[in-house]
Amino acid sequence: MRILIANDDGIYSPGLATLAKVAGQFGEVRIVAPDVEQSSMGHAITHSRPLSLRRTKLEEFDAWRVNGTPADCVALGASQWENVDVVLSGINLGANLGNSTWHSGTLAAAKQAALLGLRGVALSTPVTEDQPDFKALVPWVTRVLELVLPQKELSLVNVNFPPEPRAIRWTRQSVRHYDGQVVPGQDPRGRTHYWITVVPLGPPEEGTDRWAVEQGWVSLTPLRLDLTDEKALAHAVSKAPPDRTADD
Ligand code: MN
Repeated sequence: MRILIANDDGIYSPGLATLAKVAGQFGEVRIVAPDVEQSSMGHAITHSRPLSLRRTKLEEFDAWRVNGTPADCVALGASQWENVDVVLSGINLGANLGNSTWHSGTLAAAKQAALLGLRGVALSTPVTEDQPDFKALVPWVTRVLELVLPQKELSLVNVNFPPEPRAIRWTRQSVRHYDGQVVPGQDPRGRTHYWITVVPLGPPEEGTDRWAVEQGWVSLTPLRLDLTDEKALAHAVSKAPPDRTADD
């Protein structure tokens, strides 16, 4: 199995090294990741300037750094390495739960894999006061890959590890709340500026990703690329059936 590793924290992130080590037990690993942090860049791709792919030293791994976004890394990685089976992205320094999946660069790398017809798995863990204890997560990352990799119908999975996992759960994405808030402040010259912050939210719904991680479970959410709102589509069509064409 050919496993391409990417992330959005940058190629020298400790989370990426942990993931690459675990992935090495499952197949051939190559790392293609951003040269600097690209968190919250979402699914941006770079088309207005050329990209570079530079070899870098990262323990025993075949590793390449890119001056681009997480999605760029996957596009480049898959174009330069034939027959990639799966892209693993992470382990992100910070959870990617609920609506934050929309901004996540970690998830975008996995999504880019799915867009290319490959499989993608995004892996994240919350940052509290200290850096996450990646060593302690290794057995859980192994278990998750053992569970997910053989299931070929899982083309896109969002995985979140609580700091001290106690079990693994399949979940839905929590979409009830939004955790981005704009906080105004002043710069040293008295001009107003703004911080977009992540704020704590109320209790999440049972069965969701946020709920699972709060309970100490590893959350696995299968996602899809098709964003069509089937209910809204059916409603819209029932209210206003599509116009007949001239030949009808
Ligand atoms: Mn990140």
